[in-house]
Amino acid sequence: INLEEQARALIRADNFIDGQWVAAASGRRFAVTDPATGKLIADVADSGPADAGAAADAAAKALPAWRAKLPKERAAVLHRWHALIVEQQDALGALISLEQGKPLAEGRGEVAYGASYVAWFADEATRIYGDVIPQQQRGKRMSAIKEPIGVVAAITPWNFPLAMIARKIAPALAAGCTVVAKPAEDTPLTAIALVMLAHEAGVPDGVLNLISASRESAAETVGEWLADGRVRKITFTGSTPVGKHLARESAGTLKKLSLELGGNAPFIVFDDADLDAAVTGLLAAKFRNGGQTCVCPNRIYVQRGVYERFSALLSAKVAELQVGPASDPASQIGPMINARAVDKIARHVEDAVANGALVLTGGKRLTELGPHYYAPTVLGNATPDMMLCCEETFGPVAPLFPFDTEQEAVDAANDTPFGLASYFYSQDVRRIDRVSRALEAGIVGINEGALASEAAPFGGVKESGYGREGSKYGLDDYLSIKYLCQGGL
Ligand code: ADP
Repeated sequence: INLEEQARALIRADNFIDGQWVAAASGRRFAVTDPATGKLIADVADSGPADAGAAADAAAKALPAWRAKLPKERAAVLHRWHALIVEQQDALGALISLEQGKPLAEGRGEVAYGASYVAWFADEATRIYGDVIPQQQRGKRMSAIKEPIGVVAAITPWNFPLAMIARKIAPALAAGCTVVAKPAEDTPLTAIALVMLAHEAGVPDGVLNLISASRESAAETVGEWLADGRVRKITFTGSTPVGKHLARESAGTLKKLSLELGGNAPFIVFDDADLDAAVTGLLAAKFRNGGQTCVCPNRIYVQRGVYERFSALLSAKVAELQVGPASDPASQIGPMINARAVDKIARHVEDAVANGALVLTGGKRLTELGPHYYAPTVLGNATPDMMLCCEETFGPVAPLFPFDTEQEAVDAANDTPFGLASYFYSQDVRRIDRVSRALEAGIVGINEGALASEAAPFGGVKESGYGREGSKYGLDDYLSIKYLCQGGL
């Protein structure tokens, strides 16, 4: 059977609660469509507060037994889950491409990337150390241990339908937490398939529950978890406005939050950069997933001495990028996720051009390919008053801002409420040290465009949120510290 049939074989359309597939209590469903064509893929459960409540009940009931397991028992389950994900890499990759639109090679790549978090946290489960505190008073022993925080609610976006949810569920389960999850309405199918594999791997009933909901139902459905005192933590990746809403609305039960929010990543090319490396790095960082990642460079600052050369090299490469559906193996850039996304890109480019930007390549919709395609674009002479300077475009648009001095570039890079990723290219060791420290961001790429790794701490500062995913720090978000003080010794 072909790849698309393998992908479709993984599709389930119901909620998964307490080890059972169940329809939404209301019986309502909503359509998940192929962004390349707009055609229906499946009608999935459109959950409401009752479904969210049932999922939280299951997670709360399953918590005592799951947290009591030995760490190596939880690790064994996670390793089995990892093996099943890897076994299904092609089919899962094709499912990602089908519902999200990214090229097949990127879909497969995302499966490997998401799976790497599962393997990583399977191992980390066995390394949750506490501290023995040096004795402070006679007759007293003090220590600190780490415990699972409790029921975790995970809410994820559509741009990485597998990786974003894997890197939340894996550390939560490793820590001994139980989970209720709601994937994005555009791409719930991969998440549902992932949960099915977790069940097959031996994740006990109730430990991992997933409900889907339409955009219209999302606020009310998730609201049930925000108000539920048993849900002790929210882990969210998505937009800054929704992140702030979750923080405000969960204040009533004072939950711990991890928020991976929007970015507005600067990419600085200094006069002393290796220009070929900078172009390669920018292509990798900017055009991955059609520019729809929260670490995609949004503002490209190029020093005046290399501006002409860099813009020519870049434009030539961008003009060669192949745009098309994921089903065509030659495609390097797929459709944008939906009409809202492609409209925003078009609006940003129109606004930039109206304010004096030059279209060096692209700059238009590709309606001949389908409703959601936008041409890979390079814009010259961008300025700070353009919309694309202060808002994330989230598409295949690279605006170039010329600059003169290092200080000017750093100030411009930091002149944003966001602080997720940043990048710069330079071969001067002292400048590398200065600029790495000066950039206000959680992640800095230095002469490198591909930063993602399960072994590294991913997360932002300022309004890009707080908390870290991956690395030895990634488990802390799911643990609380308990101080034990034993007297009478
Ligand atoms: P994007 O603009 O990339 O779709 P969002 O922040 O809107 O990012 O969506 C990210 C996730 O948050 C999705 O799963 C979405 O359904 C969910 N979401 C959107 N609005 C709300 C809300 N008011 N309350 C809870 N979840 C929401």
